[in-house]
Amino acid sequence: MKDLIEQLLRAIGEDPEREGLKRTPERVSKAIQFFTKGYSENPREILNNALFVEDYDEMVIVKDIDIFSLCEHHLLPFFGKCHVAYIPRRRIIGLSKIVRLVEVYGRRLQVQERLTSQIASTIHDALDPYGVGVVIEAQHLCMMMRGVEKQNSIAITSSMLGTFRTNVETRMEFMELIKSKR
Ligand SMILES: [Zn+2]
Repeated sequence: MKDLIEQLLRAIGEDPEREGLKRTPERVSKAIQFFTKGYSENPREILNNALFVEDYDEMVIVKDIDIFSLCEHHLLPFFGKCHVAYIPRRRIIGLSKIVRLVEVYGRRLQVQERLTSQIASTIHDALDPYGVGVVIEAQHLCMMMRGVEKQNSIAITSSMLGTFRTNVETRMEFMELIKSKR
């Protein structure tokens, strides 16, 4: 990957030999490997190892999870907040695992829509809950830096499964709870 970054620097008219750029190919390839480390992690395993049986069937919400991902169209970051909720049916999951799951899918090349639905469907498949809701609010550097209109606009995507899809009240409760400021 270092060679590729060096070629890239030449292609944009830079001199990879100059002082400030000498270690750039190495730094960039390390950074890219970190931003895409989700490919070597198995999301289902993370959840399967942290399932507990519990008599609890009220909504569980983890909100304001930081997300950092790379848009697959421009390889530029998009970043923001992810909110996850589910209503357990016998099985619950360690809360930190939800955060981990978001990170694993985030550290891959993504579009925000797919990232949202992958998080929701993985939780749905692993826990068989009554329902799952995932909302992501993110800003995309590929829009902001290229000067596309509305530079501070936020893209909001959601994936609602089970009761979150079929029951308006459940969905409203979720939306209301993630709106409130801490
Ligand atoms: Zn993009």
